[in-house]
Amino acid sequence: MPIFAIPLLLAAAAAAPVAADPAAAAPVVTRLPAPSAPRLKADVTAMVGFGTRHTASTTTDPRRGIGAARTWAARRFTEIGATCGGCITVERIARNFTGVRAPTGVVVEDVLGIQRGRDPNRVVIIGAHIDSRVTDVMNAVSDAPGANDNASGVALVLEAARLLSQRQFDATIVYAVFSGEEQGLWGAELLADTAKARGWQVSAMLNNDIVGNTVGQGGIRVADKVRVFSEGIRASEDLVAQQARRAEGGEDDGPSRALAKSIDDIARGIPGGLDVMIDRRPDRFGRGGDHEPFLKLGYPAVRFSVAAENWDRQHQDLRTEKGVVFGDTIEGMDFPYLAKVTAINVATLVRIASAPAAPDDVSIAGALSRDTSVKWTAVPGAAGYRVRWRRNDMATWTDTRDVTGTETETVLVQVPVDDTFVGVSALSAGGAESLVTFGGRERRR
Ligand SMILES: [Zn+2]
Repeated sequence: MPIFAIPLLLAAAAAAPVAADPAAAAPVVTRLPAPSAPRLKADVTAMVGFGTRHTASTTTDPRRGIGAARTWAARRFTEIGATCGGCITVERIARNFTGVRAPTGVVVEDVLGIQRGRDPNRVVIIGAHIDSRVTDVMNAVSDAPGANDNASGVALVLEAARLLSQRQFDATIVYAVFSGEEQGLWGAELLADTAKARGWQVSAMLNNDIVGNTVGQGGIRVADKVRVFSEGIRASEDLVAQQARRAEGGEDDGPSRALAKSIDDIARGIPGGLDVMIDRRPDRFGRGGDHEPFLKLGYPAVRFSVAAENWDRQHQDLRTEKGVVFGDTIEGMDFPYLAKVTAINVATLVRIASAPAAPDDVSIAGALSRDTSVKWTAVPGAAGYRVRWRRNDMATWTDTRDVTGTETETVLVQVPVDDTFVGVSALSAGGAESLVTFGGRERRR
């Protein structure tokens, strides 16, 4: 059953109230290639084959340890790049980190596959950590297969690279394989710092961590959902900015939440796909992940994770106790499910890498009036803009108006500002939509 032939709704070409030409209102459908469950399984199997991928494990053994695993990942990017005339540049970045989980220091290295877009500076990042662990986070020698946590995420990133390398995008896509996650999110911190140092304009960061099982703790099976975690109050904003957000009611519409909502929208267009659960937290309760260093620097970032985690199969020494099997082995995984999570990631990359950047700033006004006026900053390369709004008691956008050309303001008649949330996205000529920037009060510059 070809459930992964994805008709991606890039955009409703004319969502304006009046669409005289019905053809103009037809969605732009782009067929995307299907993720391959056997391909994903082959990559997870290869990673499990390195015995352990603990960050402090051997880097000199050609068959075992984190060094061999990273070299393998670099080779996979090179192989994929070879099929598209070298469209993927492989880069390895490294830094020494010290902390409670590496008291004498450890060199953390990330393997990057960079697919240059028409704009080398605007970047979409998809990443996953390759390091693994057992019960004792300091144990760098015991077998730690890390099949689901997180060979699943790395296989997804490689599959996305394989599928998208045949196409040219507006934005540059950075496929990232992190190390040092279990010791302190260090590989992600390294790439976030690198993005800032290089002046990248990061439109989105997708972190995939534990994305390949459907049987959760106690045997519960959830095969039709995936969780997408996003922050509400922004880690990167100071108290003054947070107070402004509070006054505007913008807690549910920051860039990271906008990304999660966009992913939910994209996933709905994939037949036979998964229901996205917009988890309104930065990560699981009291836990963290590789998207967080990006959030700290103000980049929109989310974490994908399975709907039902199985803690007997995470961070465990391989053993059987009273008939219960512990350990993160490949038997606990579901590859057709992982392929579906991959399909959502791929479709998200396509949309965001095809769209212009989101508007930097959107402001609304209309106090003591029945109408709301909306203004936004122009986005280079945008063919138009989509104004979205909803009543304050709704969680997702309900109304849209497309504005073509270079207009950067409009008035919503009989839409009272007090009871309405408004946002604006930028559109490409092909109809691909950026993330939605939430409208607040006009900022003094
Ligand atoms: Zn993990």
